[in-house]
Amino acid sequence: MGEHTTGQAKSRTIAAQALGDIEPTTKALVPPVHVATTFIRDPDNQYRSGFVYGRPDNATVRHAEAVITALEGAAETLLFGSGMAAATAVIMALEPGAHVVAPDVMYWALRNWLGNEAPRYGYRVSIVDTADLAALRAAVRPGETRLVWLETPANPLWTVSDIAAVAAIAHAAGARVAVDSTVATPILSHPIALGADIVMHSATKYLNGHSDVVGGALATARSDELWARIKSVRGTHGAILGPFEAWLLLRGLRTLELRVRAQAETAMALATSLERHPEVTQVLYPGLPHCPGHEIARRQMTGGFGGMLSIRLKGGERAAVAAAARVDLWKRATSLGGVESLIEHRASVEGPGSPCPPDLLRLSAGLEDPEDLFSDLDRALRAANQ
Ligand code: PLP
Repeated sequence: MGEHTTGQAKSRTIAAQALGDIEPTTKALVPPVHVATTFIRDPDNQYRSGFVYGRPDNATVRHAEAVITALEGAAETLLFGSGMAAATAVIMALEPGAHVVAPDVMYWALRNWLGNEAPRYGYRVSIVDTADLAALRAAVRPGETRLVWLETPANPLWTVSDIAAVAAIAHAAGARVAVDSTVATPILSHPIALGADIVMHSATKYLNGHSDVVGGALATARSDELWARIKSVRGTHGAILGPFEAWLLLRGLRTLELRVRAQAETAMALATSLERHPEVTQVLYPGLPHCPGHEIARRQMTGGFGGMLSIRLKGGERAAVAAAARVDLWKRATSLGGVESLIEHRASVEGPGSPCPPDLLRLSAGLEDPEDLFSDLDRALRAANQ
């Protein structure tokens, strides 16, 4: 990796040039994929290059990490083999028996892990509505709670938590704050600037953006003791991202700003049109002025409310499943943040214990023409009610 030339540049510039690195040997504009698993030691037995062994050390991975660090305004970033590997590394880095507060609305697989797996390692988890500051204050135990986990906007209801207010409550009690910012992306939100200690992304989603990499990222406000523990968990558990995936992620990151802004615009247009749809009883999208988290989202998100929205249908669960079966352009698949628009009957994925109502369809706006997307959905919604 060569010298970075983008300095204090804006997100779009950082992303477009992947920090402006030029490969020093050939002067290539496109970085190579570094695949080496081991590196030559100096004759005096040192490793001055900073590269020892492929599990912790890979130049392609570090390049992608440096781009995310710049985009998040972070001190450092670590990439992982998935978003789940990144999220669980934060918990596993806490001292045994630590108390963790997590939201009632959040990515379902992490909620299940916190409920079923984390207690096996001695972690004590309280689930609370993190959008309700009084409830959060009551759940945080001074001197005992080590971490408050946030997701904002949160899957699949797109509830919004006030990062700055939660950070003030958590820090006063001696706890850290980690924010799953997958849906907000580093284009629309900067949790570290709002007081968060760690930002987490499923890089599988918007960061890569092309539905062809599974990866996760953690970015930290400072390189402290907890961060050193997280680094150790990644290294010793081997929860690393491979070099080819890191290269694809770097390529995806170059268009992050344009993709995210277009997807947020499309989501806003769809939310506005769907509010007037006769088959839709409710649209959940933080960009809509009457949505409960709108004012906070307006304050803490910059230039858009994200590409994710959900709709609830007059015809209930039957209509939701039927509408998802009748779309043509929208793709009936899980995940989010890719260039193609996805539709999902979320309750059947999340199973029992989920706050997701059965009449809900989750929509991930892609990069297709917004009018084409609306027409396809409109046709499917009307057909599902016949
Ligand atoms: N966080 C959010 C908001 C997600 O949507 C997902 C995946 O859907 C994850 C975390 C987990 O990421 P991964 O699938 O990369 O493990």
